Amino acid sequence: MAETADLIVVGGGIIGCAVVQHCAQLLPPSTRIVLLDRGPIAGATSGSCMGHLMVTPDDAEEYAFTHQSLKLWHELESLEGGFDYNPTGALYLADDPADIELFGVLRQQFVDRGDRADILDQRQLRELEPGLAEDLPGALFYPGDGVVLPMLACGAMLRVAQRSNPNVRVRPETPVIGMRRQGDRIVGVDTAAGPIDAPIVVNAAGIWSPELAAMAGQSRLPIYPRAGNLAITGHHVSPIRTQLLEISYIRFAHGAVKVDPTRTDDAGGHAVNMQPQTNGGCLVGSTRQFRGMDKTLNMELLHRSLLRAQRYAPGLAAAPIVRTWVGLRPYSIDKHPLIGPWPALRGMWIATGHEGLGISLAPITGRLLAQQIAGLPCTIDPTPWLPARFLR
Ligand SMILES: Cc1cc2nc3c(=O)[nH]c(=O)nc-3n(C[C@H](O)[C@H](O)[C@H](O)COP(=O)(O)OP(=O)(O)OC[C@H]3O[C@@H](n4cnc5c(N)ncnc54)[C@H](O)[C@@H]3O)c2cc1C
Repeated sequence: MAETADLIVVGGGIIGCAVVQHCAQLLPPSTRIVLLDRGPIAGATSGSCMGHLMVTPDDAEEYAFTHQSLKLWHELESLEGGFDYNPTGALYLADDPADIELFGVLRQQFVDRGDRADILDQRQLRELEPGLAEDLPGALFYPGDGVVLPMLACGAMLRVAQRSNPNVRVRPETPVIGMRRQGDRIVGVDTAAGPIDAPIVVNAAGIWSPELAAMAGQSRLPIYPRAGNLAITGHHVSPIRTQLLEISYIRFAHGAVKVDPTRTDDAGGHAVNMQPQTNGGCLVGSTRQFRGMDKTLNMELLHRSLLRAQRYAPGLAAAPIVRTWVGLRPYSIDKHPLIGPWPALRGMWIATGHEGLGISLAPITGRLLAQQIAGLPCTIDPTPWLPARFLR
């Protein structure tokens, strides 16, 4: 006889863990929730990324989405902690006159949302970050951002889940190899360890979410891997203590994408993102390139981003790099994540496609999905992220 559950989440990255946490908190504690991952928890993208918790003020919708999520990160810190949460704020840097103009534009966007950000002059910048190059013209400081260590955060989310609901089971090293359906509804999954019946299955499989959808006989989900190369220094050598990024990062990471994500010959690009670690190390990124599932290090792109980082923080030149690696972001073709039911197959839910903001957005994703499953009012209007937009 097949094992039974009330809700299965496939994918133990930050998104799957957040979904489990919020379902455990919002659904009755008798709800049997199973989290399945074919590898370790946080063993894929969520274990090979940076941990910038970022508020994006581009428009009111985006601001509410990111801002609410950061509130939930703060709540998780109060509830559980233990994931190197560091509310450093973010310093936006520039050395190019055209980019320096953007300080005022971004500041105004924060102000328009009822928030604040401060333009710092050279002296104020050096007071905040003495390790930065002396000739920098100033910066924009947004106090609301922070940094976490995503692998530890996955653990914290699952601890909260298991405390809220004794019926949460976490199964790493358990690949899902098939989706069980009856007509137009999902009725469970097949795993390498046997079948599990459940009326609700959440696809939180990141860059593999199209594979999972295909197992359920669904059309291809529009998610494509977007590679990022990262480098980290040894401990106690970081020249910075605030989350830093070039202001051009916003255009680079969140602006219009001119290349076809299905191609693998994208030359890629970079904009600096530097994160202090609680062990005194410094994590440096970040590049973006479409090249399928290829995880080979792109030395040229990484070298260029490291040189650029040294331009801002010259002390980095003397800091030993102890590890380099590549992570693959789950990029959604319309640049918005998919969060909600998949109406073509009853019982199938989706939480994926967060590209470079999945750590920031994990809590609000988990909360919105759990609220929809529980039939509760949503914290914010979920419409812009409903996967149904790809079925029209
Ligand atoms: C270089 C880089 C830097 C980044 N920096 C930031 C940042 O600073 N801030 C930020 O907010 N975001 C950042 N991101 C983005 C963030 O890391 C991702 O959006 C997020 O980790 C995606 O999480 P996920 O849970 O969807 O995917 P994953 O973490 O990949 O989880 C999906 C899981 O599904 C499992 N799975 C797949 N198929 C199956 C199957 N058949 N059976 C069972 N399990 C399966 C996989 O094993 C995997 O563990 C960055 C990403 C990269 C690559």
